[in-house]
Amino acid sequence: MPARDHCGVVGVAVPGKGAAPFLYRGLRALQHRGQESAGIATTSHGKLSIRKGMGLVHEVFVQETLDALRGSTGIGHVRYPTTGSTDLENAQPLALRLRGEEAAIAVNGDLVNFERTRRRLQAQGVELLGNADTETMGQMIALEYSRSRDLEAAIRRARWELIGGYASVMLVGTRMVAFRDPLGIRPLSVGTLNGGHCVASESVAIELMGGETLREVAPGEILIFDKDGEMHSASMGATGETAHCMFEWVYFSRPDSTLGGKDVYAVRSRIGERLARESPVESDLVIPVPDSSRPQALGFSSASGIPYAEGLIKNRFVERTFILPDQKRREAEVRVKLHPVPGLLKGKRIVLLDDSIVRGTTLKEIVSMVRAAGALRVDVRIGCPPIVAPCYFGVDMKQRKELVAYGRTEEEVAQVIGADSVHYLSLPGLVESIGLASDQLCLGCLSGKYPLEVPEERQRFQRTLGEF
Ligand code: SF4
Repeated sequence: MPARDHCGVVGVAVPGKGAAPFLYRGLRALQHRGQESAGIATTSHGKLSIRKGMGLVHEVFVQETLDALRGSTGIGHVRYPTTGSTDLENAQPLALRLRGEEAAIAVNGDLVNFERTRRRLQAQGVELLGNADTETMGQMIALEYSRSRDLEAAIRRARWELIGGYASVMLVGTRMVAFRDPLGIRPLSVGTLNGGHCVASESVAIELMGGETLREVAPGEILIFDKDGEMHSASMGATGETAHCMFEWVYFSRPDSTLGGKDVYAVRSRIGERLARESPVESDLVIPVPDSSRPQALGFSSASGIPYAEGLIKNRFVERTFILPDQKRREAEVRVKLHPVPGLLKGKRIVLLDDSIVRGTTLKEIVSMVRAAGALRVDVRIGCPPIVAPCYFGVDMKQRKELVAYGRTEEEVAQVIGADSVHYLSLPGLVESIGLASDQLCLGCLSGKYPLEVPEERQRFQRTLGEF
């Protein structure tokens, strides 16, 4: 079962229209990327309005709240915390001031040099209130802006202190700004909307706001939108190298999004087909772990000729299992969330297809459920190579000891989760299914080789690991 989602961002500049309803629709389209908190900031004549709260987008924003958000330019955020604690203080957008101008920032991603950058800011007398990367990023840009009053130059200079994977949106006075890390680790697309422009973590959010996707924001690109929605593009100095997160195609992004010019749904189908060729199995039914593994399971079924069936039914009204405080309750919650169809599974050999395994705890529960429903065999196929190393660029996989594949063979993983067999997609299989070259992708959590040096790995994330 997959890692937690990270975050999603949107930004709009639509002259003559209120920004908030567009942002609301965009955030709802990105709800899968973060369910802990949601927030919107808008600006009208340089005056900032900001509303945020804990919960899902439709829980945080009722009509009254949206009506209070004035102005035709704004940004929004849905959050699953990857760093920083899980409270309202760290919900985004965060308000700040840039040389007297009212401003706000929202980020999807993590900085790898967070501690060092914080110390540098504190040494300059900057007061930091929370403990999230977003505040650090915003304050670093504010510091640079205080020196020049040139926003583009401030972001370009701050970039040298902001090392990591991020896609950020800001409001500064009447302007909306969007920028993406120089390797394009985290996704960000730009589109036209209602005579102006918009940006979003995924193309599907642009389309659901009523816009048209133009392209992806280039790695290291800074886009500045004025109050009339006009777009100005600049670069913070990228090298042309990229390291797009492979996990966006594997699991995070919606299947109806397009990333790196590749349809996510088509990539997932190819993954399933490839997996069927790499790890064939004699079986009666292919069953996906819903929802994210369906295209892979359909691909597996068409390549293997084994019939596909929806053998696990998801209760759509149970969400956010991660907020439960202990493992036992989270496991019990899996049983509320997913239930097998006994008539389909009884007496059958089952190929259970999941997009990825991170900790393995949820999949263990599912395998046991499928067996209890009468399956004769449960052969697990995983649409991603083993995740053996942490992510430092915005995904909640921080400690090696939590990763079931770390230090284990496929046979040992099968034992842990109680399956008859487990086979993962190969690395070449993944790269070829995505359709980009391996050196255009971040594969850090699969190989332990990261596209950026991670100076704070030990201090920040691995403290509790004796064996590291
Ligand atoms: S380490 Fe893994 S999850 Fe993190 S950005 Fe790289 S590919 Fe994505």
